[in-house]
Amino acid sequence: MKRKSILLALIIFASTSVINTVSAIDTDQLSDSDISLVQNMLIKLKPYIDERKNEGDANMLTFKELYSRLDAHEQTFMDAIRNLKQKKKKNSEVAKADFVAIENQALQVTDPSNPNNRFTSIIERQYLPKNNQEADETMMTAMEKDLGKRLLIESGYRSPAYQLYLFVFYLSNHSYSIKETNRWVALPGTSEHGAPERQALDFITLEGISGEHNPEEFDQLPEFKWLAEHADQFGFVLSYPKNNNSNSGYEPWHWRYQPPQTQPVK
Ligand SMILES: [Zn+2]
Repeated sequence: MKRKSILLALIIFASTSVINTVSAIDTDQLSDSDISLVQNMLIKLKPYIDERKNEGDANMLTFKELYSRLDAHEQTFMDAIRNLKQKKKKNSEVAKADFVAIENQALQVTDPSNPNNRFTSIIERQYLPKNNQEADETMMTAMEKDLGKRLLIESGYRSPAYQLYLFVFYLSNHSYSIKETNRWVALPGTSEHGAPERQALDFITLEGISGEHNPEEFDQLPEFKWLAEHADQFGFVLSYPKNNNSNSGYEPWHWRYQPPQTQPVK
């Protein structure tokens, strides 16, 4: 009996040492009842989220909107995910009025199997905090002057509530292990995409090169070289450079807006 309780304590210690959870959920492997809770919850939520995506508004999902569609058990489960202790400080929810909508960004994409076939693809509506959008616009005007082209915003703000939905949505891809999922998907409240005070954006070229499948492809672009040389003058910082110490790999497309506080207002 005693040995069993020591073993139990060790298991609990092991499972809490990576993500310091204060909740009852097992971060290594969700229980069968939690798995079916997640599955049923997603069946219920997906049509609503898809509708929001069609409207280009999923990134602005609020906790109120999300929780109003959940029963008490599901809300408790979602609270447990939100309460997973993080080293970083949590992002707070922000009013929609503080954001600028970025619409009708057009990519000129070439069909890889038929280079003569070029088509226009419109990026889903994105949102950025106003100061970030203005700084980006100033920076892109400067880039366009130097290179004759600019970069578009593939991904801007994602609300903590939407990040929570995405985290739960991707659990099934990682055997319902919170720890495994967290290697690929940020926990709600920790992504730089949900942090207006250090808001990140992902760039994409006019031709649709995002570097998502091959960071080196983005890294070799004149647009990237220009950013590496000039972005700091506009308050933008490369969050995940080559060989960084975080969990993330090299992300040459991901820049956060964090001007030094001493920088004069232009
Ligand atoms: Zn990013």
